[in-house]
Amino acid sequence: SAPARTKKHMLKLVILGDSGVGKTSLMNRYHSNKFTGQYKATIGADFLSKHVSITDQTGNVRNVTLQIWDTAGQERFQSLGVAFYRGADAVALVYDVGDAKSFDHLDNWRGEFLRQVGIDEIGANFPFILLGNKIDRPEGERQVPRQQAEEWCQRAGLGSMGGPIPHFETSAKTAENVEGAFLELATLAVLHE
Ligand code: GDP
Ligand code: MG
Repeated sequence: SAPARTKKHMLKLVILGDSGVGKTSLMNRYHSNKFTGQYKATIGADFLSKHVSITDQTGNVRNVTLQIWDTAGQERFQSLGVAFYRGADAVALVYDVGDAKSFDHLDNWRGEFLRQVGIDEIGANFPFILLGNKIDRPEGERQVPRQQAEEWCQRAGLGSMGGPIPHFETSAKTAENVEGAFLELATLAVLHE
């Protein structure tokens, strides 16, 4: 019989999106349950690690280390480079629900990732999730209706993982949906192995 595939113990998760949407804040909220409210364009590390237990498709509980990769702010000025994307097991695309431009740029982020890692964009079968962050903003500041984001997920996810890209509206400030979103991201990475 065929040898069992070796399961990974480390999963690389990459967070992508425009500068200012809250990528670093989401990572810090998930990793350390902290929110500073300060804008800090650079961080020291390339990634933060977190140990979690994930239930895979056979119902087995898997203990894995998530390596969560965040940019050091260079997304404002330059391309992130292939080392940032290489070996990613799943990607969270982030926009700000109060910033329509950050939503319009999602296709660029998705396309740039797929190009850099050499995945055919048309038949892309890669685990993405979509996070609409800053849902704690006053409703009057919302520029991206939930429906519009869900339509994007239908289009961008066509033929990918057999369904639309999962969508979460999150707040790094209040922690709303942050844990659930990262758990879904890690689970997709495990299922995609
Ligand atoms: P990044 O450039 O994508 O890494 O964004 P940051 O995490 O640095 O956040 C940019 C700014 O948005 C900072 O001032 C954060 O405090 C703020 N911010 C991040 N997430 C949220 C959120 O969920 N709600 C609100 N109200 N502000 C947020
Ligand atoms: Mg940042």
